[in-house]
Amino acid sequence: MRRRRLAGVTTSSTRADETDLGRTRRARRIGRALTETHPDAHCELDHSSALELAVATILSAQCTDKKVNEVTPKLFARYPTAADYAAADRGEMEELIRPTGFYRNKTDSLIKLGQALVERYDGQVPGRLVDLVTLPGIGRKTANVILGNAFGVPGITVDTHFHRLVSRWRLTTETDPVKIEHAIGALYPKRDWTMLSHRIIFHGRRVCHARKPACGACTLARLCPSYGTGPTEPAAAKLLKGPRARDLAVAAGVDPDLVPAQAVVADVP
Ligand code: SF4
Repeated sequence: MRRRRLAGVTTSSTRADETDLGRTRRARRIGRALTETHPDAHCELDHSSALELAVATILSAQCTDKKVNEVTPKLFARYPTAADYAAADRGEMEELIRPTGFYRNKTDSLIKLGQALVERYDGQVPGRLVDLVTLPGIGRKTANVILGNAFGVPGITVDTHFHRLVSRWRLTTETDPVKIEHAIGALYPKRDWTMLSHRIIFHGRRVCHARKPACGACTLARLCPSYGTGPTEPAAAKLLKGPRARDLAVAAGVDPDLVPAQAVVADVP
């Protein structure tokens, strides 16, 4: 592992010759830093059952979790069971979920999901990956979200944030989501997979943005071979987002007053 110093921060830069053991150790250190950085990490889709989480996850395609959470209270009250989704009036459901976008396709998925659950699973959401991925609107990513958060079965959720961050950390060179899932899963204990996924996604939404990551205010700077992808000066704190943006600055050793007030109330992507 090559060391380099940028803007007063010594970072690690992995080369092709980083050993598997070295990569695993660095991955575990990243995991521990994320645990300290994001003690509030959780599934950001509001739900109180596996069915509600399945529905919310389908609605979250091409939509922020915040927008989904604005829509779901009325939806969940109107359709409390799988049978209710199966028998739903299409026009009424479309109106309820319209703010989440792609509402015609999503309505189609929700009605078909309800029908499949009634026909094949007695109206219950199954707790196995092999069954979940056969349901309309539910791919492997959604299935892992449901398993991890509604059934307590450890699962890795490879969404756009997860993919971007593990690539920047050079923990894997895989690009296929299933291969990424297996490669990252091999670096961490299985029991940690679900929370690790939440923490990585939290970091991607609040700190390590796609276009302009807040490298100068990132708690992972010393472990990240992509340090410098975004601005490295402390003023990068203005790029932090979410209600804990000031805490994130403090954790990174940066003056929290550099975080603008609007960043604290800004929606995370
Ligand atoms: S914000 Fe910068 S230093 Fe932090 S993880 Fe992302 S690329 Fe690495």
